[in-house]
Amino acid sequence: MKDSFGRNIEYMRISITDRCNLRCKYCMPDDLQEISHAEILRYEEILRISEAAIRLGINNFRITGGEPLVRLGCLDFLRALRALPGVGQLMITTNGVLLESHIPALQEIGIAGINISLDTLDREVYRTLTGADALDKVLGGIKAAVAGGLRVKLNCVAMQGVNEEAFLPLTELVVQYPLDLRFIESMPIGSGIGFTPVTGDTLLALLQRHYPGIEESHERRGFGPARYYSHPRLQGQIGIIDAVSHGFCENCNRIRLTSDGFLKTCLYFGEAFDLKQILRQGGDDDALCEAIRKAVENKQEKHFFRQDPAQGEQRKMSQIGG
Ligand code: SAM
Ligand code: SF4
Repeated sequence: MKDSFGRNIEYMRISITDRCNLRCKYCMPDDLQEISHAEILRYEEILRISEAAIRLGINNFRITGGEPLVRLGCLDFLRALRALPGVGQLMITTNGVLLESHIPALQEIGIAGINISLDTLDREVYRTLTGADALDKVLGGIKAAVAGGLRVKLNCVAMQGVNEEAFLPLTELVVQYPLDLRFIESMPIGSGIGFTPVTGDTLLALLQRHYPGIEESHERRGFGPARYYSHPRLQGQIGIIDAVSHGFCENCNRIRLTSDGFLKTCLYFGEAFDLKQILRQGGDDDALCEAIRKAVENKQEKHFFRQDPAQGEQRKMSQIGG
């Protein structure tokens, strides 16, 4: 459906848990209070919201978290979501730690793409940044996903003074494997406030130095806001998401459902629509649809991350789903 600025809203990110098996410093503070199980949406509730969204034409879904693969029953839920009439593409975003053994099931379910977060190829930096010595497991998951023919995108959050040495080694994975890599400017949400993004312009200059002749492909690869670049040496493409330095709000196509049932229409703003309340007070499918329609109609024009980061969303990224 269209929002009041004429943007086509066709994609919903669904966070199925606020829990995670990593503690990435830019995402999740060590002492973050977990949301109680009673407040987390049950899978049946998420499916009802998804059905209502599909009725409005919002029929592409990305499952995220926290770490989605840590929630019990995640695969059965994915299967049920995939089977909903009218569903478009179903994708998942994961840190990759538990991915390898899930690949056959994800293939069988018909997952359209997997985004895997990876900010460094240095084992020590990985451990410091995420709190776990799990780099090899993630690399195993990436290789298994590629070998299984799944569409893979790696997400690297680009932070000054933290992982700049990793950028070129990470691009070598795109030389080696048929996958995409996206650099994401770190965003000042929650723990991200303590980090300074490497800007998209800086990243592009680095790519141009290392891959002379690299060119913007102007391709749309999935539902994300990245600008993609291609080069004869690369099997996939490299994307840049410069949400902070440039912004991409004029093409925004998404809404977000938090694991505790709030519908967010912009990453920046803290306001959200309480769909769980509608569900748990016995609201029917029309009531759900109406609430989602109203939320989309009120979707904000743009974020203010650059102008006023502190006034924005107070939830942590792990509670929103990225
Ligand atoms: N646990 C999964 C993962 O890490 O891919 C899914 C949830 S995670 C919150 C989703 C995405 O948000 C990841 O790609 C992560 O790197 C990104 N993210 C978290 N905090 C961020 C921040 N402050 N700025 C930019 N991206 C962030
Ligand atoms: Fe967990 Fe993903 Fe946040 Fe890292 S980015 S702490 S893996 S939710």
